[in-house]
Amino acid sequence: MNPESLKYLLLGVVVFGFLLGKILSYLNVKRPVPPIPRTLEGHLDAEKLLQSKAYQTENYRFGLVSGLISFALSVLMIWYGWFGAIDLWVGTWTANPMLHSLLFFAVIFIASDIISLPFDYYSTFVIEEKYGFNKTSIGTFFMDKAKGYVLLILIGGALLGLFLWLIQWMGKDFWWVFWIVAALFMVVVNVFYTSWILPLFNKLSPLEDGALKDKILAYAQSVAFPLDNIFVMDGSKRSAKANAFFSGFGKRKKVVLYDTLVEQHSDEELLAVLAHEVGHFKKKHILLGLVISVVQTGLMLFLLAQFVFSESLSLALGGAEWSVQLNLIAFGMLFSPISTVLGVAMNWLSRKNEFEADAYAKDTFAGAPLAAALKTLSVKTLSNINPHPWYVFVNYSHPPLLQRLERLE
Ligand SMILES: [Zn+2]
Repeated sequence: MNPESLKYLLLGVVVFGFLLGKILSYLNVKRPVPPIPRTLEGHLDAEKLLQSKAYQTENYRFGLVSGLISFALSVLMIWYGWFGAIDLWVGTWTANPMLHSLLFFAVIFIASDIISLPFDYYSTFVIEEKYGFNKTSIGTFFMDKAKGYVLLILIGGALLGLFLWLIQWMGKDFWWVFWIVAALFMVVVNVFYTSWILPLFNKLSPLEDGALKDKILAYAQSVAFPLDNIFVMDGSKRSAKANAFFSGFGKRKKVVLYDTLVEQHSDEELLAVLAHEVGHFKKKHILLGLVISVVQTGLMLFLLAQFVFSESLSLALGGAEWSVQLNLIAFGMLFSPISTVLGVAMNWLSRKNEFEADAYAKDTFAGAPLAAALKTLSVKTLSNINPHPWYVFVNYSHPPLLQRLERLE
């Protein structure tokens, strides 16, 4: 394909992705406020329901504005060949091609981060604040950013450097070597996430002695899950929204309960949530997710190897000659529809896994307290009880509340 046609293809992909996302959000936000379902009577009242609608509408408008700005910027960048211009400009700083590529990505990253910063700030300190969810201090907000930068420079920089080096030295064969590196990296992150990365941002503590711990111990023993692997995390440092998750495998597996969850729920409900998380482990959901991610990465790298040496792609983005960094940007855009399709498939699988984990909790503990916990969680976080089915199909990693309750009750 010639550079001119490729340029229009890239624009088309960007427009398509934007429209698809916004149409789905629009359909979702236009859903009427439903009457209160019988199963939620006593949990949800008319006032809460309207508040939840207001919260969703506000987030929709925010997403529309921030989405429009980033969309307009992407279109301008492609239309006027600004990626190529930036690449040319960065090229005047160094004669080393590797350093040139790294600096190019640094410039793009810093620029996009500066643009998104006011939006992150607004979302946290205006919207979340208004609905009483925000617990993040300005200090924590910027400290998180700083830590994120350090991690990105150390880990992201090293991986990107190795990746560029492999492309330079191995040609097309880089893809399978880097695939092995990426797979190893994903396994390491999965196994050590709660030991190495999470503690940089949060404090994990073992369960405190008391009635709750005794009950958890009894349940954990009944399903042969080691109690040492259950932790409480200071989620209240950032948000009033409660959560729990499962991470890692083998000896490193951990169930993490947010302190906000422990505060807001009865012991029975907490045990049911814990049983759900243990269900994810027993049904091998984490392991399966990891295997799928590794396969997807391999597919993406293989496709990338077919495109990364094309000169037309660089020219389409306004480059003067072949440039690996321009091709990576262009490939990222071309791959986005595939990545949307893969994302839909992953969400479908994830929703199926959530049902399985719910069923596990019902079988090994009880359904009613899990249903009660889900109701409280959903009402407190002002979540949408009447989402559009297409929106759910594309975006939801968890089934909508009413579907989960139906199976539990
Ligand atoms: Zn789950």
